[in-house]
Amino acid sequence: MKLLEHQAKERLRRVGIECPTGLVARSPQEAEKAAQEMGPVVIKAQVPIGGRGKAGGVKLAKTPAEAHAAAAAILSMEIHGYSVPSVLCEEALEIAKEIYLGVTVDRDRRSMVVILSFAGGMEIEEVAEHSPEKIAKLWPDPFAGPQAFEIRELTLQALEAVGGDETLPKARYLAELVPVVQSLFRLSQELDASLCEINPLVVTASGQVIAGDAKIEIDQNAEFRHRDLVRELGPDASAATSGDDPLEVEARRRGLTYVHLGGSVGIIGNGAGLVMNTLDLVKQHGGSAANFLDIGGGAKAEVVKQALEMLLLDPAVQGVFVNIFGGITRGDEVARGLISARDELGMQLPLVVRMTGTREEEGRQLLEAAGITPAVSAPEAARKIVELIGSTGSS
Ligand code: GDP
Ligand code: MN
Repeated sequence: MKLLEHQAKERLRRVGIECPTGLVARSPQEAEKAAQEMGPVVIKAQVPIGGRGKAGGVKLAKTPAEAHAAAAAILSMEIHGYSVPSVLCEEALEIAKEIYLGVTVDRDRRSMVVILSFAGGMEIEEVAEHSPEKIAKLWPDPFAGPQAFEIRELTLQALEAVGGDETLPKARYLAELVPVVQSLFRLSQELDASLCEINPLVVTASGQVIAGDAKIEIDQNAEFRHRDLVRELGPDASAATSGDDPLEVEARRRGLTYVHLGGSVGIIGNGAGLVMNTLDLVKQHGGSAANFLDIGGGAKAEVVKQALEMLLLDPAVQGVFVNIFGGITRGDEVARGLISARDELGMQLPLVVRMTGTREEEGRQLLEAAGITPAVSAPEAARKIVELIGSTGSS
């Protein structure tokens, strides 16, 4: 679940991170009124996606009339597929420096990571790709959180990485960033956030350090712990969740081609054509496919295991149909891979396997002995999985 900017900033304020004063407007009139109260404002599209600035969804307005016009323009935009139901009208900042600060998950290190860069403002992915040396990272102890001395070290590293920055004296940076990083880290833990990001963390012309933008994403798997938040965010939250399908995101991370379809039969096949054909067969036999999962050429045991694991993440899946078209691929190896994957994952659901290839007969015998249903042809497999799901009942 992605929070909108104004929702994320509200969370930042609650943990003591400075944010500009702002009002949410749903019409140009409301934006105009806000500008009358606030003076020069920045009008910002409230959509659950970054890159609004580049897309024209962030506009400065010096006068109420300009605010009216900017809001009218932004409210009628579509930004990366999102319509814009509201804008945030904030007192405009006089920006002297844009810093990037983020807390996210480092999957390789199996740890949270704090990322700091004095090359802020841009998308951090861009900085990471073109000038990764400008980014400093800290992997704090998850229980103690980032310590003041660690944050000072991080800050020095980040400053050195860009050859220093004169916007503020070094001592001010060291002092200012400690509480911001600590609060942001604590917030990300409290919210089970997969991402808490301030980009830019602004240093104003008068030397104030303040959050110019805020992005918070709550880990989908932890949403049950944040029902109150989901409720509080109301209709905006559902708008924010309508982003990418989380299973598809997860599959992409695992390097699998996966499309969520919503039915109850999980499908694994090697090759897009074969998978599409399998979907049709399941349908013809009265079942409904839960997904489209293509593991590509061959059928390596590890890939099959990843695919099975993916399917089990979908609570709607009631049975799995594996369709492997092998040539040189050895059926007995595929069978052994499947059996050990099922056992390792503790999978209880019906599993029907149709495979062809070298030693396919031997493979089928292994499967049968392990309680997995083998099939010689794909239509036969489709019939069997639909029957098995029917007989185990849908709970
Ligand atoms: P994003 O593009 O979706 O990340 O939206 P941001 O809120 O980060 O805004 C994009 C850019 O607009 C920032 O990096 C700033 O350069 C600029 N911007 C945002 N707010 C202000 C403001 O109050 N004053 C000024 N001068 N620029 C702003
Ligand atoms: Mn931003």
